[in-house]
Amino acid sequence: MYAIKVPLGVRTYTISIGNGLLSGLGQECRRLPLGARCAVITDRNVERHYGEAAVQSLRASGFEPELVAVPPGETAKSLKVVASCYDRLAGHKLERKSFVAALGGGVVGDLAGFVAATYLRGIDLVQIPTTLLAQVDSSVGGKVGVNLGAGKNLVGAFWQPRFVVCDLDTLETLPVREYRAGLAEVIKYGIIHDVELFRRLEQVMPKLLERDPDTLSSVVARCCQIKAGVVGQDETESGLRAILNFGHTIGHALEAIFGYGKLLHGEAISIGQVLAARLSVEVLGFQQKDLQRIVRVFEQAGLPTHFRLDAGQREKLFEAMRHDKKVSEGLIKFVLVNKIGHVSFGQPVPVELLERVLDEPPVPVPDPKPSVR
Ligand code: ADP
Ligand code: ZN
Repeated sequence: MYAIKVPLGVRTYTISIGNGLLSGLGQECRRLPLGARCAVITDRNVERHYGEAAVQSLRASGFEPELVAVPPGETAKSLKVVASCYDRLAGHKLERKSFVAALGGGVVGDLAGFVAATYLRGIDLVQIPTTLLAQVDSSVGGKVGVNLGAGKNLVGAFWQPRFVVCDLDTLETLPVREYRAGLAEVIKYGIIHDVELFRRLEQVMPKLLERDPDTLSSVVARCCQIKAGVVGQDETESGLRAILNFGHTIGHALEAIFGYGKLLHGEAISIGQVLAARLSVEVLGFQQKDLQRIVRVFEQAGLPTHFRLDAGQREKLFEAMRHDKKVSEGLIKFVLVNKIGHVSFGQPVPVELLERVLDEPPVPVPDPKPSVR
């Protein structure tokens, strides 16, 4: 088992990573001064697999959990669903010492986290992420929130959990497409911060795709450690935390124009990271051979690396970026890569350059594609 500390002063907390951890949830909660009444917020898919195990573990340690299952998918991140959760919490008489356990992927973590941050002006939160993406990314760092009609994540808070439990066994039931999408964030950590991790991913991708427990636990732990380090230095994104947005400028815009759900977040940022790396070749002299390595590793993970946009989609892409306030005076701010393992944020890129790179054909990768299992 790995234990990673997220260093945030008095709010410092631990991320535990390993197999079979869900059954120990109740005992883990017992170590903190938490009230007996609590709510396990999950979605209906995750409830089916792990709802009972979570509730049983809490009961066995003397807690009184209420299981609240919301519909699966991004649409659950709404104020309407938040309101229905408040009603369930109030109905179960949760009080100031009560806590919320978020059991699920990124959607559940963001939603349940926001409920915890606001109910009774904030109650304790524990995170039990069950997707690879949530384990390496969204459950770490305390960003919680929901969507409005006007856009994603427009209402939210920074609300740190008391601890995070990543039970790798829960990934066994995760659909393969979701699993691969999570790998896009894993690869991101290699590119932005850790060339050793990147090299390792180039070698162990087949094992990672098999969800080999040892490979998976060490990789997830390294990703959490990197994110914890960044968040520890810049909790509220006044600077450094922006490097975590590598590939996300284009990624978010692609998600918006294709409609949420068509392109998974991980797929969109896979394309976005390759595009940012291509821009980096032009702007920072990032090496072509390293660009090819990046493309290859995303391909190995079975992720898309290129998308041809028609004229209408292109216009929508720029519109989405303007809406995001990323464009000003013909320049767009990007996180660009200097060399694998090192990026710079706030790099201005001329709109014309982005347009040109969008029109170019996919990056040719000379070596034969390694087989994707
Ligand atoms: P993400 O973590 O990628 O932000 P979601 O929270 O939307 O995404 O989860 C993605 C999908 O996978 C949802 O339909 C969710 O119900 C489902 N899911 C989450 N965790 C698991 C799991 N461990 N096993 C099976 N399905 C899961
Ligand atoms: Zn992301």
